Amino acid sequence: MMHDVLYLVVPCYKEEEVLPETARRLERKLESLISAGQISQESRILFVNDGSTDQTWNIIARLHSENKRFCGVNLTRNRGHQNALLAGLMVAKDRCDMAISMDADLQDDIDAIDEMIRQCQRGCDIVYGVRSSRKKDTFFKRFTAESFYRILNTMGAEIVFNHADYRLMSRRALEGLGQFREVNLFLRGIIPMIGYETATVEYERKERLAGESKYPLKKMLTLAAEGITSLSIKPIRFITVLGLLIFLISLVCIIYSVIQRFLGQGVDGWESIFCSIWAIGGLILLSLGTIGEYIGKIYLETKERPRFLIREILE
Ligand code: UDP
Ligand code: MG
Repeated sequence: MMHDVLYLVVPCYKEEEVLPETARRLERKLESLISAGQISQESRILFVNDGSTDQTWNIIARLHSENKRFCGVNLTRNRGHQNALLAGLMVAKDRCDMAISMDADLQDDIDAIDEMIRQCQRGCDIVYGVRSSRKKDTFFKRFTAESFYRILNTMGAEIVFNHADYRLMSRRALEGLGQFREVNLFLRGIIPMIGYETATVEYERKERLAGESKYPLKKMLTLAAEGITSLSIKPIRFITVLGLLIFLISLVCIIYSVIQRFLGQGVDGWESIFCSIWAIGGLILLSLGTIGEYIGKIYLETKERPRFLIREILE
């Protein structure tokens, strides 16, 4: 459809090494989509500078002055990938019909864009880019990344396996996202909550164009912790269950030692101390978990997530 305005949203943190080449490739992609009549002339490439300390913003400013296809958003300081991405999406929200987010290093195959647009025009509001293989990643990156998805899912965060932040969102999906006002942000977990029809597009993950990863292990662990604690209160439930289990074990011990006592085989003083340690320990954990359940509820309340998003009303 000729009138669809597409925004490519690209968060950049110290990406001076890849940015010129990324810009060149994205521009070529966008121009070919425009001349094929798939998207509007008004489509743009939006770079978000996440407080880089290198030449990143100067490069973005230069690109913008040379070609109106390029736009830029400059954050006041480094706020991390998720926040930078949200900033870009919220700026794009009022200007586009659909936005695709991707990394500046073009590890995500930009030829998947065509299929994403097709799915969107077929009526999907969110199209997830999913990595079909991680052959090009190092073993370490692959192992840590895949464990990340597994752990998150068992901890109760519903996320799409092997999908990072390469995705298309329609304008109304972006407006839905804008209603999630939480500060602890884990986009991959929130976007499935928006709803609407979704689709996935597979692509092969490539190597970084140049420069090095801005996601060392430390940042990945922070992201994983953020993902779990911002989406799920399962860890609290774990404490409750553990407390209950220990308390039940202590009951078994008490019954056992009472029987021993009647059979005259008990050791003086030993059972009473042993049983009370387990019983009290179990009760303490159980109480902590119970308090935790309420704190978890308060936590979710403070996020003030929208309870529903309306697709349409007939009247
Ligand atoms: N990024 C960002 N702010 C940060 C760290 C990273 O905006 O504090 C951006 C970075 O410029 C890139 C994307 O997040 O566009 C993903 O980073 P990277 O490619 O280094 O992660 P990896 O692919 O190694 O997981
Ligand atoms: Mg990368």
